[in-house]
Amino acid sequence: QAKHEGRNRYRVFESDMKSQVEETMALEVELRRAYEIMDFSLHFQPKYDMKTGSIVGAEALIRWRAGERDVSPAIFIPIAEETGLINGIGRWVFETTCIQVRKWSLDYNLPPGFRVSVNMSVQQLQDPDLIELLKQAVVSSRVDPNLLEVEITESLFLERTEVNMENLASIRELGTGIAIDDFGTGYSSMAYLAQLPFTVLKIDKTFVDDVHLPQGSAIISAVVALSNGLGVEVIAEGVETEAQANRLLQLGCVHAQGFFYSRPLAIDQFEALMESGFRLPSSQRLGS
Ligand code: C2E
Ligand code: MG
Ligand code: MG
Ligand code: MG
Repeated sequence: QAKHEGRNRYRVFESDMKSQVEETMALEVELRRAYEIMDFSLHFQPKYDMKTGSIVGAEALIRWRAGERDVSPAIFIPIAEETGLINGIGRWVFETTCIQVRKWSLDYNLPPGFRVSVNMSVQQLQDPDLIELLKQAVVSSRVDPNLLEVEITESLFLERTEVNMENLASIRELGTGIAIDDFGTGYSSMAYLAQLPFTVLKIDKTFVDDVHLPQGSAIISAVVALSNGLGVEVIAEGVETEAQANRLLQLGCVHAQGFFYSRPLAIDQFEALMESGFRLPSSQRLGS
């Protein structure tokens, strides 16, 4: 009986694996087709100062609608990375963001320090042409590069190469910020981190999820202290509840991003926020 069940389970497992591989292959074909015409869009998730309730920036997040369904970037970005499509996609993301931010800088009174970030994959950072591409996008859109920031996931810094460091330094020379994304999940050594020319630490959602626990609070406090010591900004990502927001503020983390404040927004929705003075609705403002 047990043996019989075991064999069935094995068959189910095998057919699951097969369909998963087939699905990934089908998705790759669809992705290549979308890539031909850059059939993607960007959403923008606002970043908030929790003390004042004001928007301090936004993160550009790529969206892909494949036929009737939205495919998450968590699914298709890894495929783009494996197939080499990521360089072209990443370039499109950067150029499109430059054009958008330039337009916003003309249409709105952007608050001081306002920046829009884009995510960058390891392949992009290792591309020797990266800086030329970034400069071209900045020049042709006429965007102020000080309004931009790139987000690089911490785990990437384990792969330390020359191009990597040179590209990072050149990005800073442009005036563009560098955020270490998913901070705390990549096991980088402190000594190594301190050598990187970054301007922002983004505390990963997993720590925000645990902020109500003593260990979670201790980690947040430590990262806040580290940021203050290094003279860089700190922001918490994945803030989903008012309790988390309040606790983060108590611990000295003032900037945050997450569903409690806002989901990633389509362009017209984000513009509506800017029109209402870069402010949260008063019902959502903490401690005021
Ligand atoms: P990430 O850069 O860490 O972005 C944060 C992700 O968390 C986004 O998912 C965002 O929608 C989601 N998020 C924000 N607030 C909350 C919250 O309160 N709760 C929860 N559960 N989730 C929240 P998204 O847009 O699906 O992107 C997933 C990942 O895909 C990103 O993680 C990033 O690594 C990658 N990605 C997205 N856009 C791009 C891009 O243009 N280029 C590259 N290379 N990667 C991208
Ligand atoms: Mg990010
Ligand atoms: Mg992140
Ligand atoms: Mg993340």
